[in-house]
Amino acid sequence: MKQISDNFIKDAIQYLASAKNIVLLSHKNPDGDALGSGLALYQYFKEKKISVNFVLPNQLPDYLDWMPNVQNVITYNTQKELALKVISQTDLIIMVDFNHSSRLDKMAEIVLESKAPKIMIDHHPYPESISDILYSRVSASSTAEMVFEFITAINNGEKLSKEIAECLFLGIVTDTGSFSYNSSNPFTFEVVSELLKSGIDKDFVIDKVYNNHSHSRLRLLGYCLNDNMKVLPELSTAYIYLSQADLEKYNFEPGDTEGFVNYPLSIKGIVFSAIFIEKDGYTKCSFRSKGKFPANKVSGDHFNGGGHLNAAGGESKASLKDTIDKFERVLPEYSNFLNE
Ligand code: 5GP
Ligand code: MN
Repeated sequence: MKQISDNFIKDAIQYLASAKNIVLLSHKNPDGDALGSGLALYQYFKEKKISVNFVLPNQLPDYLDWMPNVQNVITYNTQKELALKVISQTDLIIMVDFNHSSRLDKMAEIVLESKAPKIMIDHHPYPESISDILYSRVSASSTAEMVFEFITAINNGEKLSKEIAECLFLGIVTDTGSFSYNSSNPFTFEVVSELLKSGIDKDFVIDKVYNNHSHSRLRLLGYCLNDNMKVLPELSTAYIYLSQADLEKYNFEPGDTEGFVNYPLSIKGIVFSAIFIEKDGYTKCSFRSKGKFPANKVSGDHFNGGGHLNAAGGESKASLKDTIDKFERVLPEYSNFLNE
């Protein structure tokens, strides 16, 4: 059940044929899909002996530090000079798991100004036109699923190495919450079947994703569910929040709050959940929903963000308290989606 188009592959192969230095890019606060998709491509080009760099706007989460080649990822916030150098020298940019330049944060301008041809592979809705060629498929479980199709096509259908398969499996597992959402298309399982044939240790990857945290992260989760969760039954919504003081108290490390936003959705009758996290000068917002309730619309309308129908994120310049007040104020605008 092929999904990627022949034209995209044909064009991509042409760009790749003349590329000597490739730069891979993904989004700020990278998740498993961003890292898995980028690192799979990194490993592929390394195997083909093509010079490649993977540049991210900021730090990767600690719980993914075991992935192949993570030590080679360049982060713009800590290695600006090096990031600028590799972007200025590249003759092909491949962007994965985002479709809007704002997701590149402070790197956006230099990437948009680069004369290098750009390929984009992504599964978010409403792609911005910032690449020369685009493979966009909103129905895909993850970008990793699309990168599987891409690499398989440019590699003449040959089986992928175990390292590549492991990265792609990680992307699919994290973006589907271990196959609990975004995974009703049989094609996703065809891809997973191929990845398993490459010899990956499925249980190892799942164990690293879910059972690789500090004890203070678990205590932070317990604390915020107990003390900082508000349930609004009449709006079928529940949300949690964390201040900087809370994070410090529980020795917060990047990635620790990943997945917290899903917990309120486990309450009977709740179809919309949110988490608000106080950061330096802004409030990070994450939203999750069930069914037709549009998490991405709430985020896009009021919190400078976007994403998928059921998983979205954004940022607010306002304080934690003001952001939460605004959230409660605007929520009734979406009541009509509750009856659908
Ligand atoms: P998370 O809540 O895990 O940070 O993000 C969930 C999804 O929302 C991501 O896969 C991404 O699609 C989207 N998202 C998160 N943060 C932002 C943001 O700041 N802007 C936009 N446009 N989308 C975001
Ligand atoms: Mn993704």
